[in-house]
Amino acid sequence: MALKTAQQYLDDMEKLVPRVYCGGKWVKNLLENPVTRSMVMANSMIYALAEDPKNKEVMVATSHLTGEPINRNLNVARNIHDLDMRQEMALLTSQSVGTCNYRCVGCDALNSVAATTWEMDRDLGTQYEANFNKWLAYAQANDLAVSGAITDAKGDRRKRPSQQEEVDTFVHLVEKRPDGIVVRGIKVSQSGAIGSHETLVLPGGALREGEEKFALAFAVQNSAPGLTYICQYNAYSAEREACGDVCELGNPLYGQRETSTMVFDNVFIPWERVFLCGETKYCGRMVTRFAKAHRMNCGGACKVGFADLIIGGTMLAAEYIGVEKVPHIQEKIIDMVRFSETSHACAIAAAMRGREEPKGSGVYLPDDLFGNAAKLNIAHGFWEIIKNAGDIGGGLVVTMPRMKDLDDPEVGPMLKKAFGAAAPADKRMKVAKFLQHWSAGLHGPGTWHGAGAPQTQRFMFTVLTDFDAKKKMAKKLMQMED
Ligand SMILES: Cc1cc2nc3c(=O)[nH]c(=O)nc-3n(C[C@H](O)[C@H](O)[C@H](O)COP(=O)(O)OP(=O)(O)OC[C@H]3O[C@@H](n4cnc5c(N)ncnc54)[C@H](O)[C@@H]3O)c2cc1C
Repeated sequence: MALKTAQQYLDDMEKLVPRVYCGGKWVKNLLENPVTRSMVMANSMIYALAEDPKNKEVMVATSHLTGEPINRNLNVARNIHDLDMRQEMALLTSQSVGTCNYRCVGCDALNSVAATTWEMDRDLGTQYEANFNKWLAYAQANDLAVSGAITDAKGDRRKRPSQQEEVDTFVHLVEKRPDGIVVRGIKVSQSGAIGSHETLVLPGGALREGEEKFALAFAVQNSAPGLTYICQYNAYSAEREACGDVCELGNPLYGQRETSTMVFDNVFIPWERVFLCGETKYCGRMVTRFAKAHRMNCGGACKVGFADLIIGGTMLAAEYIGVEKVPHIQEKIIDMVRFSETSHACAIAAAMRGREEPKGSGVYLPDDLFGNAAKLNIAHGFWEIIKNAGDIGGGLVVTMPRMKDLDDPEVGPMLKKAFGAAAPADKRMKVAKFLQHWSAGLHGPGTWHGAGAPQTQRFMFTVLTDFDAKKKMAKKLMQMED
């Protein structure tokens, strides 16, 4: 089996028994808890998209290991077209679920691991690429959902990993055994790890000599002994648990972007699943290569899909109160399009200017500067987009009563009178709830921090931009002496 159906994925999830804690209780079955269920349903939709023949070019790739068709979320990009389709996949999945493609981080992580294990084996004579290819072939053959764990808890940001009072704030090596390694520590903000078959774990940043025990990359199976997932919990989670009928929520089926804190308590990882262990020199490269891929996709395509949904909802809100032709409303809608399409253009440029890295590896990664531009632009642009959604949506976006109140025999008629406009109250309130989910929820900070806080992209601009060349150009035109 190279492509799993959505139903087969859901069947897998029924069998999984991860140690998951969510909002004050242990979750026995991911599909029975309304919060964890939304994450699993979103992932199932990613499988469903790949089943649909009209999405084949975007969602299905050819394995470079076996020549078989595989889900693009498990593909190692081998050319520019792969990169372009990868960012198109991020766009399509976001438009379809309005939340994470929970296989996205894992996909970008495995591209980085493919490139870096090839390089390590070439330089050091290690066996990491063989390990990785074997694991990848298994993941592809079984169409596994793989999440990506990069962000360590990090503790005091001024201190190096080994200087932290609490060593578990970084995932680290506890013991090397003949058959594998034992790891412990904490990764935070892990998108969809609870409902993934596997998590690909990378170092959280560049490391120096002496920090070998933090230099780790490996694949861990969901429900591995010693692994605990503590889910995020917020007002939206509580609302989902309390409402009973998800239809009245802003994103009924797929909910918010669900993450968890992953706690590794002496988890055993067999050597076949270890892709870096102690080689500090290669950690920075592994993380940078991941970021290259992820900023193109997360910044320049995923959030553009979200923006498409927000723009659609905002236009409906304008129509429902009869202001869709008013000039300042149209101008604001155009601004929303400008912010999102500029980011998408950066993602396409990042793919088109992608290159093989390292040379000879066969792995293609997007252009760094354009990928960072995509992410930084949308990090700022998204606030503008949700600001305009809040503006055009009106106060109702945050002051609306519960959708269900419309059915109440006593207050329902009053509400229908109060909120009926150019469209009936139920349509207006439905769209207001949708916009509430985007503009008054978790998506602002989520977009800001996902794929790295914007300061990291600014830093990359300073590294990647040839400022001297620009000064020289200006001087030349001014006929100034160099
Ligand atoms: C919705 C969502 C989904 C995510 N999914 C994943 C996932 O699937 N996998 C994964 O690995 N990660 C994931 N992340 C984590 C994401 O990559 C991080 O949130 C991001 O890298 C920022 O790290 P942080 O949250 O620890 O922020 P912090 O490090 O706490 O940053 C807070 C502020 O401090 C600044 N700062 C931090 N350290 C320094 C320093 N040393 N010097 C100067 N300034 C500093 C930052 O620039 C920022 O302004 C996700 C995050 C979100 C919000």
